[in-house]
Amino acid sequence: MASNRMEISELGEFGLIDRIARNARKQNASTVAGIGDDAAVVDCGGDNLLVATDMLLEGIHFDLAYAPLRHVGYKAVAVNVSDIAAMNGKAEQITVSIGLSNRFSVEAVDELYAGIKAACDNYSVDLVGGDTTSSRSGLVISVTALGRAGKDRVAYRSGAQPSDIICVTGDLGAAYLGVQVLEREKQVFLANPNMQPALDKYEYLVGRTLKPEARTDIVFELAEKGVVPTSMIDVSDGLASELLHLSNNSGVGVRIFEDKVPIDRLTFDTALEFKLDPIICALNGGEDYELSFTISPADHEKIKLHPDIHFIGYVHEEKNQNIMISKQGTVVPLKAQGWDHFGGQ
Ligand code: ADP
Ligand code: MG
Repeated sequence: MASNRMEISELGEFGLIDRIARNARKQNASTVAGIGDDAAVVDCGGDNLLVATDMLLEGIHFDLAYAPLRHVGYKAVAVNVSDIAAMNGKAEQITVSIGLSNRFSVEAVDELYAGIKAACDNYSVDLVGGDTTSSRSGLVISVTALGRAGKDRVAYRSGAQPSDIICVTGDLGAAYLGVQVLEREKQVFLANPNMQPALDKYEYLVGRTLKPEARTDIVFELAEKGVVPTSMIDVSDGLASELLHLSNNSGVGVRIFEDKVPIDRLTFDTALEFKLDPIICALNGGEDYELSFTISPADHEKIKLHPDIHFIGYVHEEKNQNIMISKQGTVVPLKAQGWDHFGGQ
């Protein structure tokens, strides 16, 4: 049967955004970069203005059965500050828009804003506006962050060059395993409400999920060492997906080494406990909010001793070869399997 209707799942999240971007015509010379990076870049005369926005929805991005409202507020700010950091910028203001169903009390909103305030204090950003509406589907929270970076310091997704070194901060996969732990404990609790969740052992993983931090420290330290990444992105969907964004936007290929990908010991052990492959969790888990970036080989010397920056591979010319060399020496193609909310599962 012929039909004009196309399902969103046929395009996927990225396909849908591409379709929207194709029709977004640039009409102002001040728009330096629009859709397609971690933040938009606006020429304001002096430094560039950076603008990022991200929305969190109850039931999709968080579950109030285990995510305290205070953490939801904190995370909503942190993920936007992370997008500004991913442009090599510093966030300075946020606006916060919320949709509330009648399930929420004033005290609940206070809790949410206590988390927002904690993040504002931690990242030195000012809450300067927003919008408040009612909602029929629980809590909706949308944050827009405004930030700043010197014109010659902005790091796009498109600047990676052959022979650049690929870097990633912190460790990966912990946030994904934190979700697995929380889901398991929730099921145990639903089956027997007298059971207390056994989370102590997994504190690091659960913390990475519920209260992620933006790596503003790395942006600061790169500036201090005189390094401007040739390209950068934050790890929200998973390292593999993010590296493919960098390589596709830069017209190059990436080659990384499994044994260089940073995975915390607890992440590794918990992955095995859940019968998951730790490297798959690190590559495709997502929500780690670490920074992945490329540097010119000439800059390696300046940051090679940084304890929290890991050098995991390099950029090469063949743009169709985005691969990982496994510990056994086999070649594994990198695939984007991030959180796909339109995946139809
Ligand atoms: P991130 O993971 O950094 O939040 P996204 O994949 O959400 O990135 O977005 C990629 C790009 O697409 C960004 O430039 C974002 O501003 C833009 N974008 C996402 N959704 C829309 C939309 N509905 N309309 C216009 N631009 C959008
Ligand atoms: Mg987004």
